[in-house]
Amino acid sequence: MKKLIVANWKMNPQSLLEAKKLFNSIKNRIKKNSALLKKTEIIICPPFVYLAPLSKLLQPTTYNLQPKLGAQDLFWAKMGAFTGEISPMMLKNLGVEYVIVGHSERRHILKETDEMIAKKLEAAIKNKLKPILCIGETEKERKSGKTFQVLKNQLKKALKSTSNVKLQTSNLIIAYEPVWAIGTGNPCKPEDAKEVLIFLKKLTQPSILYGGSVNSQNAKDYIEVGFDGLLVGGASLNHKEFIKIIKNSL
Ligand code: PEP
Repeated sequence: MKKLIVANWKMNPQSLLEAKKLFNSIKNRIKKNSALLKKTEIIICPPFVYLAPLSKLLQPTTYNLQPKLGAQDLFWAKMGAFTGEISPMMLKNLGVEYVIVGHSERRHILKETDEMIAKKLEAAIKNKLKPILCIGETEKERKSGKTFQVLKNQLKKALKSTSNVKLQTSNLIIAYEPVWAIGTGNPCKPEDAKEVLIFLKKLTQPSILYGGSVNSQNAKDYIEVGFDGLLVGGASLNHKEFIKIIKNSL
């Protein structure tokens, strides 16, 4: 199975010009080295406002030789009075295939609850977007030995309204992202991440990614312990570093 390498640009870069430049640099590197796409699926998740212009840079004829687009979030309702929100269908109409759900920055900074995450996950699945569900423990939870309990609880609550039948056809992807490792330059030790991976594989079928201070030096370690791919934040904003991460994950 192909490894999934997901770039989460978060609230970067600051201009459309820079976003196009970064996207084109990644796209062109991939096109020149088509072996990369034989073994990996590359997904770029820019801020909402760049999705439409970036989707125009993709050519339908070379679909298999290009990165795919993902959104960083979605809202659960179809339409209506939800100021500032983006519906699943709006994303679908732009050619977006993937969507991150429950990123820790949304859980912790924007106070997104498990109930909201469950509704978002269900909306993504119903609309045939491929959800990348992020779960992860805080430093305090890890230090007090609650990691497995927290992860199990987050999974259970997120999947609450999703029936087994829907799940089987959903292409659900799970990203294990320890909160204390995100954007800190302090990645989870591969052997510790492996323990979590083994625990999660017992609970659930989907592909499982690792995220948290991934760079070109450590990318391979997570693939070697069995993760199905990586969710990359900061390091995905430098196209050379991101391409190295992809190459080192093969
Ligand atoms: C992320 O945004 O999900 C992430 C893992 O960020 P970083 O790679 O910067 O830690």
